[in-house]
Amino acid sequence: MGRMARLLVGPGSVVTFGKDGEVIEEGGVLIDGNVIESVGKYDDLHRALGERKEEFETLDAGGRVILPGIVNAHMHFYSTFARGMALKDAPPENFVQILERLWWRLDKALGPEDCYLSAAIPILQGLRYGITTYLDHHASPFYREGTPLGCLEEVGQAVLDTGVRACLCYEVSDRDGQTVAEVGMSENERFIEMCRTGHGGGRLSGMIGLHAQFTCEDDTLERARQLNDYLRAGCHIHCAEDVADAENARSRGFQGAVDRLREFGILGEKSILAHCIHITDAEVEMIASSGTAVVHQPTSNMNNAVGAAAIVDLAAEGILLGVGTDGMSPVVWNDFRTASWLMRHRAADPRQGWGESVALLVEGNPALASRYFEKPVGVLREGAFADVAVMDYFPPTPLSKDSLGGHLLFGLSHSTAYHVVCDGKILLESGRLKLDIDEEGLAARAREHAQELWERF
Ligand SMILES: [Zn+2]
Repeated sequence: MGRMARLLVGPGSVVTFGKDGEVIEEGGVLIDGNVIESVGKYDDLHRALGERKEEFETLDAGGRVILPGIVNAHMHFYSTFARGMALKDAPPENFVQILERLWWRLDKALGPEDCYLSAAIPILQGLRYGITTYLDHHASPFYREGTPLGCLEEVGQAVLDTGVRACLCYEVSDRDGQTVAEVGMSENERFIEMCRTGHGGGRLSGMIGLHAQFTCEDDTLERARQLNDYLRAGCHIHCAEDVADAENARSRGFQGAVDRLREFGILGEKSILAHCIHITDAEVEMIASSGTAVVHQPTSNMNNAVGAAAIVDLAAEGILLGVGTDGMSPVVWNDFRTASWLMRHRAADPRQGWGESVALLVEGNPALASRYFEKPVGVLREGAFADVAVMDYFPPTPLSKDSLGGHLLFGLSHSTAYHVVCDGKILLESGRLKLDIDEEGLAARAREHAQELWERF
């Protein structure tokens, strides 16, 4: 693990992110412990240190672009072992078959070390692109002795060992019977309580995970409501990803998937709906009025051929919107770019979605992630957690608040990180990981596990 230090990061073009984000030329970020002490002109910060100068180490950004650590707002670490895996049945023809023939077979085969390896490996990959915070949605129903008990701690250990930050949840559903559903719910409760009493030292937090309304019976949604009334942790659930979810809700007498979740009290300011593609205008209003956040995963949606969310319309209603990868990759930059192209493609209008897509990454993800940690994350400002990504990018055109979107979409999204700091610790320096982890050894162990898992699958 990198050292916790008092650090002055700079000089470079500091891009603060957040709602009133700015670009500070020849800027720097001053870090004390795991918190940002101040952000400003590098020379001013350096001068203001005065006699404290000796106590601070300099992390030379060499004029590069300094971003906050990037947030991936919807991830499935456990998808790692699906990479290259052959299916045993005919190729799925629709979304529900993709779940049945791929994901619900894979997650049943995951044991303890699988959960650790499948998380640690993508996190290390993501670090090279400046990704430091994940909102992960985990499933391993038969993790140990036929239940998921303890799986979030295993995933959490990978997060702790790799130095990043994550909000985890276990995706409860009724597809594997009542016992697995009940243990899954208590796994969420147990993990949330553990994090609240100090586990993870502020780098881990938990939510109440649910798979989707169409895989949850009324009793399960009711239990989630009761748990959320008590813990106020928020629910993280897939919603209206495919038309089948909306049809299922309609067959139960609701307008759609959002409407059924509203009925069961799942919406609210700490809850996250992933996808929201097949929803009605009335359901958009339900999301907006409840303060629920929506996370968009365009590459997954295209890969599953399930449609495209009306992100521009959701943004117009003031809904908090983020962007995630849905397990396609740890690196959210690709989904961020694809979100922009898809907004214009969906509308058949090249004017659409420029501001809305940039806002997903710059404003939405930080605001969303900050709901689950003790201090703001994903922004460079005083009092926020000290998560910083110095990107190996020297702007070839002027970089300002107005031109930032273009640099993010066409330049920074292709760039690797040069230095990464998370929670005040240097995890990557001059392009090299500074962690006490044998990355090659991890991958070798993962290949052995994957081979066995593919046979069990
Ligand atoms: Zn997902």
